[in-house]
Order: sequence, then C-alpha cells, then structure tokens
Amino acid sequence: MRNLFLLASSLVLFGAGLFLAGATNSSQIRYVGKTKYLNNAHAIVSHTIDDSTKYVTQCINAMDKYDIKATIFVSTEQDPAPEDRFLTQLQVRELWPRLRQAIENGHEIGSHSRQHPCKRPDTEAWCSATYDDYEVVGSRDDILRLTQQPYVWTWCYPCGHCANYESIQKKIAAAGYIVARNYPDEPHDGHIRPDLQTWDTHPMNAAYTQVVQKRGGAAKSEIIDVANLNAKFDEIYQRGGIYNFMSHPQWLDYGEDGFYERHLAHIARRSDIWYVPMGPLYAYHTIYEKTEVRMLKPEKAKARFELANQLDPKIYSGSITLDFIAPAETIVLSNGKKLVAQSGPVTDHWDREYFRRDGEHLYVTAGSRTILEFQ
Ligand SMILES: [Zn+2]
Repeated sequence: MRNLFLLASSLVLFGAGLFLAGATNSSQIRYVGKTKYLNNAHAIVSHTIDDSTKYVTQCINAMDKYDIKATIFVSTEQDPAPEDRFLTQLQVRELWPRLRQAIENGHEIGSHSRQHPCKRPDTEAWCSATYDDYEVVGSRDDILRLTQQPYVWTWCYPCGHCANYESIQKKIAAAGYIVARNYPDEPHDGHIRPDLQTWDTHPMNAAYTQVVQKRGGAAKSEIIDVANLNAKFDEIYQRGGIYNFMSHPQWLDYGEDGFYERHLAHIARRSDIWYVPMGPLYAYHTIYEKTEVRMLKPEKAKARFELANQLDPKIYSGSITLDFIAPAETIVLSNGKKLVAQSGPVTDHWDREYFRRDGEHLYVTAGSRTILEFQ
C-alpha cells in the first residue's frame, strides 16, 4: 500500500515536473549567439572620403542629408597645397569645427597623413623614408588634439602608395591604427571596383567595394552611371554583405540630381542596414571574435551572462549584440543599468546599449565587458 502510494506520488511529481519544465521553458532565457553585425542588421553600408579639400564640408552636408556615415580622411597639415582645390595649413585648421560636429553625428575622422606624400613609383626606400613618425604618428596626434574623438582607428594611404609593403604596414599598425584603406593600382584603374564585399582579411591593406566619383588623378575611366553603381550595392545588400564605397569630395557633383546624391538616396535609410564608418566596423569584427559569453548562476535574476574579452577598452569601446530567446515581459540590465528599447536608427552611434525585440528574439546590444541580468 505504502509502495503504491509512493509510486502514485512519484507519478504525480513526475507529471508536475514535466508540466513545470514546459511552463519554465516559456519563461526561460536562452542564449542563441553573437550577431555578425550590430543589432542583427542584415547588411552594412560604410563610406570613406579622402583628402583635405575645400569640398569636404559640402560632402559631409550631403552625407548627413541621407544619414550615411563615413570615415573622413584628412591630411592634417596640407602645406604646401599641391593644387588650388586642396587646402592650405590655415584652411585645414578652419575645417576642424565642422569635423568635430561630424564626429558628434556619428562620423569618424581618419588619418591621411600630415602632408599627403605621394610619389610614383612608390619604392620601398622612398616609402620608409617618407612614412616617418611625423606623418604616421603626428597626424594621429593632430586628430586627437583637435577633436573629441577618443582614438584614431583608421589610416588611408595617400595616393594608395606604399600599401603593399609589409614594413610600412607594420609602421601603421605600430601607431595603433587597426585598419588602413588602400586605393589599389590606380594607373590600371584597379581602384575603381576592387569589389570587396566583407571585411578584408588584410586590415593593414584593406580594400573596399567601389569608388563613386568622376575620373580623377591617374584614372583612365569612371563609373558615374547611377544604375550601374546601384546594381553593385543591390547585389551586396541581397547577400547581406558589407558595401564599402569611397569618394574624393573634389570629384563629385552635388545636388539631388547629381550621381553622388542619387546613389546616396538609393542606399540610405533602410531599417535593416547598419551605417557605420570603417574604423568602428573593423573594431566590431574583433569584438565579435574575441568576446566570450559565459552563463552565470542566476541568483535572484531569471538568468545572468558575463561578457568578457582581453581587448583594450580604449580601442574596442564599441558595443556587441547578443541574440536571446526571451519572454515578452523580460527586463534586461547591463552592469546593473536597465536597458531601454532601441529608439530611432542605429546608425548614429556604435557604443550605445539598448535592446530590440523581434518576435521571440531579444537582441541585446551592450558593452563587450559587462554582466547582463534578465528579470
Ligand atoms: Zn589622397
């Protein structure tokens, strides 16, 4: 009799256990993984513009009209100015207030050296003599001194020269740059469409997708047919890739009827695209690869996770996004601070914390060294 009772009560307990397991599943938090792009965006648009010319301000204004985010490569001390469209040292100085405002709006300032040294052929001897601390480190320090930007992530080789030499790449990396954009083989039009559609595996000689600009410099041809330019973007967008395009502001037509703004209008304001400058884009990739996510004892919460990495927080200050399955009423805290739902586009900044719900998925965007607590 007693045994029967025990058996019956075990069955009841077993049944209750099953029921409980079913019930807790719907209130449980399940970690799915890190998302490839911030906020689980489907694709990326990244833009870079080169040179300290009098057209830089106009170009930034055009980008802001369409909320496109760029790395603005400036030569911090363009003197003597090689051509009348380039700025003198004094004029470069007058550019800084606009650049500081651009940083506030989610653009990045990158280094294009101090004096834009450029010489063909770019022999290794010439490159190592020219790429000295004055140009490589000095331009970085100019940007740090003259702006509120906490770090200078990105370098751009003037005229695309010297990018192929390992000794030069090492110098650029030693100065702390995490990515250096090239401009490959301009005499043979190699720079027009390198067709990179993701992160470059050689960040110190990093390519891009295509140029959007008129023929200039040593180029022999140009693509300013908007349908052609847009088709390349469409191809990458469909694939969920990285569309990274570059322009020289002095080789553009401005105004809504010009090819540049018509292309910007085509690629702009899509809710599933992360618009981000090149430096933070490469930083995200490293944060994504190096951050480890560990489940902690929940204690009083529903679940707790620790995000950790050994990265330098000054360089890798950007956020990372984690995908969870979580019930509707879930509250998330990052290091004790309650996160709010994402409002507005994610294009403005890359170091914010928020969450976004999509069906049963909860995309949590937070710093990469934090403790997430679910309540
Ligand atoms: Zn240049």
